[in-house]
Amino acid sequence: MHDFYRVIGNPVGHSKSPAIHAAFARQLGIELEYATCLAPLDGFAGTVAALAAAGCKGANVTVPFKIAAFDLCTRLTARAQAAGAVNTLSFDGAAIAGDNTDGAGLVADIVGNAGVTIAGKRVLLVGAGGAARGAILPLLEQGPAALTLVNRTAASAHAVAAQFDFPIAVRQFEALDGPFDIVINATSASLTGALPPLPAAVFGAGTLALDMMYGAAPTPFMAFATGHGASARDGLGMLVEQAAEAFHVWRGVRPATAAVLAQLRAGA
Ligand code: NDP
Repeated sequence: MHDFYRVIGNPVGHSKSPAIHAAFARQLGIELEYATCLAPLDGFAGTVAALAAAGCKGANVTVPFKIAAFDLCTRLTARAQAAGAVNTLSFDGAAIAGDNTDGAGLVADIVGNAGVTIAGKRVLLVGAGGAARGAILPLLEQGPAALTLVNRTAASAHAVAAQFDFPIAVRQFEALDGPFDIVINATSASLTGALPPLPAAVFGAGTLALDMMYGAAPTPFMAFATGHGASARDGLGMLVEQAAEAFHVWRGVRPATAAVLAQLRAGA
């Protein structure tokens, strides 16, 4: 039997991860199986235990289980610790190693795919949930000139910022000026077609505006940003890059991502 992997979520049927990992495996000539796994909302730990007992090598974790995954791990990487959430599990006997590849995927997409350096730049991160927390350490490792955090619930932003040694400026939406070089929407607002209350001044002609959300049409955040001169990017590149990073965690080899991203964009 080939090594097998899963993406665990609820819902999870819509996940693009099986197609992405199948493409990586084909590209590298590796035989493996990767499929979705629907866990009951109150049954994540049981699902993980059953997969590990069946010989599963690893699993990605998606909504709403990333914090439950963090709590289950016997070992955590520094970036998973910083995120407080896990999206990549590796099984080895009774041990469960937890990693978080979302932030590395974000950085790889910005630097590698969009061709925008983060070093020396003014970065605005919108949101203070799991995705935002996971992004901070990988962003800081790039050496931005400044990182500003804004969130609807200011107390969450302050709590997140306090976890890092780097001085992260926490602002209210209405107190933001700009423009920023990079604006990252790490809120789930786009899921409901909503737009975080960002002033237009945060965007300028040289701004890269990235929404972690992806879909068939530009999100309201992307439309608002391009309407104020910025270049906009959705979260599909981040998705492919976080998957490549997870593949590397499991198999020790990093797949090339450009063709896989192009195929997904073409709807193939
Ligand atoms: P969480 O539920 O942990 O956090 C949600 C965040 O969004 C909170 O900061 C919340 O603010 C904020 N928010 C929600 N609605 C609004 C709104 N209407 N206006 C302003 N702020 C709002 O979600 P995650 O952090 O896990 O995910 C965030 C997004 O990132 C999702 O869209 C997810 O799909 C995407 N994502 C994409 C990935 C990729 O690979 N492309 C990987 C991981 C995530 P408050 O604290 O006030 O509630």
